[in-house]
Amino acid sequence: MTILDAYRHYLPPPLQFVPWREHPLDGKLLLFERNTGLNVLLEGEETAMLRRVAPRTLLIAVTNVCNLSCPFCYRDLTYPSDWTFDNLLEFCQQADDWGVLEVAFGGGEPMLFPRWEEFIHELYATTRLGINFTTNGMRLTGDFLDAIAGKYGQIRVSLYDTNHWADTIHLMVEHEARFGINWLITPEELDGIQPKFDELMALGVRDFLLLGYKGDEFPAMHFAPDDYRRFSDWLNRMYAEHDDITLKLDVCWGKMLPDVPRLFIEGDCGAGDDFLSLTSHKQIKPCSFHPGGISFNTLDDVRRYWERTRHHKAPVMMGGCGRLPARGLIHIEGGD
Ligand code: SF4
Repeated sequence: MTILDAYRHYLPPPLQFVPWREHPLDGKLLLFERNTGLNVLLEGEETAMLRRVAPRTLLIAVTNVCNLSCPFCYRDLTYPSDWTFDNLLEFCQQADDWGVLEVAFGGGEPMLFPRWEEFIHELYATTRLGINFTTNGMRLTGDFLDAIAGKYGQIRVSLYDTNHWADTIHLMVEHEARFGINWLITPEELDGIQPKFDELMALGVRDFLLLGYKGDEFPAMHFAPDDYRRFSDWLNRMYAEHDDITLKLDVCWGKMLPDVPRLFIEGDCGAGDDFLSLTSHKQIKPCSFHPGGISFNTLDDVRRYWERTRHHKAPVMMGGCGRLPARGLIHIEGGD
């Protein structure tokens, strides 16, 4: 009898016969279903001996090319784009075999990756992976959204001053796309957060990922202590007023918003363990904000890196990293 069999009768009836993918964590078992994006975490005596065998998610920058030039973008334009249709597909197929549950593609702009629509179809057909990507939306069309319907987990649309996001959201809603918005909350953005939130709600957004600025280049984009309080108050108000939305906070907020209720309270952000970031020029990083990186060619190189380093939870030495002592995430050293 498998662990899932032992737990199955504890699940509500509609969840008992979902074609779950099982993903062992350290002492827990995660169940995942890519078509709904549903996650169930099992934890008990039966799962105590389990150990992770793969990261849950790979964040892959499929290209370094972009059709916008945002001033705060951390992409280095001197880096090449080494992924091709074939080598990315094969790499993702091997990641699926390894035990990875989801891929989240970014860039640059992933819609500029050659034959992107065909790539999504092929990846869905040949793996069990959940397929997600983040886009500025400038290249999205209704035909594309209809063509990939049912083959992806989520499309995340970044909100910039320059990317006509209202038109993009309108298109997504019209074509019943599964999407959410990625919203960088700076002190300036915080000043106008309510009217913009109301506008997004009116457009049909129901999934909000609220990101903090990570970087040292633009200090004015970092929160002051009073901004954290104002942001916490606003989040709590929205949480109380809306029961039909998903409010997500990126992991790097750390413990800076202690009054905000969280669904998952982890001691760490998971960079380098739960997820890995792979650049367009084939370097591995614990997360996208780490400087440098380790070169790789094959999935086995990535696997070796992950097995060797997943317990070394190094902070990114830049403003905004939740692993920096002042921001409160636990820095765990050592093995299992
Ligand atoms: S290492 Fe720091 S910057 Fe990277 S994901 Fe974790 S908290 Fe965020």
